[in-house]
Amino acid sequence: MRKWMRNRALQLFVNCLLVSAILSSMPARSSIPITSHRAPHLAQTFENPQVQSALNWFKSHLNWINDEQARLTEIPAPPFAESQRAEAVKVLLAAVGLDVHIDKTGNVIGELRGVNEKEIVLVAAHMDTVFPAGTDVKVRREKDRMSAPGISDNGTGLISIVAIARALHEARIKPQRTILFVADVGEEGEGNLRGMRALVDTYRDRVKSVVVLDGSGIDHVTTKALASRRIEAVITGPGGHSWSDFGIPNPISALVRASVRFLNTRVPASPRTTFNLGQIEGGTSVNSIPHEARLKVDIRSESEDELFRLESALRECMAAGVRDETESARDRSKGKLEWKVDILGNRPGGELAADSPLLAALRAADEFTRNSSRPERASTDANIPLSLGIDAIAIGAGGNGGGAHSLQEWYEPAGRELGLQRALLTVLGASGLAAEKGKS
Ligand SMILES: [Zn+2]
Repeated sequence: MRKWMRNRALQLFVNCLLVSAILSSMPARSSIPITSHRAPHLAQTFENPQVQSALNWFKSHLNWINDEQARLTEIPAPPFAESQRAEAVKVLLAAVGLDVHIDKTGNVIGELRGVNEKEIVLVAAHMDTVFPAGTDVKVRREKDRMSAPGISDNGTGLISIVAIARALHEARIKPQRTILFVADVGEEGEGNLRGMRALVDTYRDRVKSVVVLDGSGIDHVTTKALASRRIEAVITGPGGHSWSDFGIPNPISALVRASVRFLNTRVPASPRTTFNLGQIEGGTSVNSIPHEARLKVDIRSESEDELFRLESALRECMAAGVRDETESARDRSKGKLEWKVDILGNRPGGELAADSPLLAALRAADEFTRNSSRPERASTDANIPLSLGIDAIAIGAGGNGGGAHSLQEWYEPAGRELGLQRALLTVLGASGLAAEKGKS
């Protein structure tokens, strides 16, 4: 027994020497431990020659990717009017052999059938922009920079689902689980994630992972869904002439009084809670007492309780603003003010489990591309699956961008292949590869 132990110890010591000698002689990438130790099957998937050829496809087609991104960006996709852009994406996805259809919500869905059709990995990018119809979306190119509203958010994500589908097609890769490449509608603002809601509704029983590509960059991974509410407050009154009816309650005045009260509401820094008075409108002319005033407010919080508290505060402030205005009105004979608060959007919160296979796939893809990314909380299409306990992440699709939601939005594609490779590997890590013929 003792002799065995001594031999065993000696053997372990020799093994250690051997392992460290092998490790130090291997190229840097292979010596990174996470891929091989935590998820050896992923390392095998990533090193597959077909996968390598898919990864290389990006580098040799950067011009095509950039040009198609510009072309898609120049097709307007205002809120609730994404259909023209959807048709263009449909053509691109069909060209790489996917079975493509547009669902009744307006989402473009391209299917890459896996061995296991009962399990689905969804790769999604939103098509809609925040910009109203008529916005100049012409892409200006200066050196390595492309500028246009929507070029990065989400021109980058959108072209990336097409590029990933094409890279897989060119490399003749068959996944284990079916992959659905989706360009979805209604991510921004009052779209209220309706595209993703419909997708999750349709594929609820089969979808195992959702990878959302939104904007540029490779430095983050959204694993926590930021809960938010979009609220509209409306105050109405009798309305009248600025001179002859002076003294009747004025909805705009009431809304201003209510807004000032709401602006004085204290919100905690932790859990981080924010609000924004985003849109205010009403009235008919400068010399009319308006009959209506509207205010749209966006509130967000890391805590559902704080969200609820802030929503209640907004209602109290509206009631108080109307009360203040009514009390100061000299003439209440022509009618009184009415007010209401409507929920325009409700984005539920949620969180990806630390031990989820999808996060393991992303981490392995990060290791493989020698990237490091920080987990983040944000409001994206991933909110919907995360709120229902379905594994989901949102990541940028590479390159650099800025000025999102502004007319000065820009995108620089330098290094974008890394983001595309990282996304492709994450998707394949989640879907798996079909076993090669002749092998088990
Ligand atoms: Zn976006």
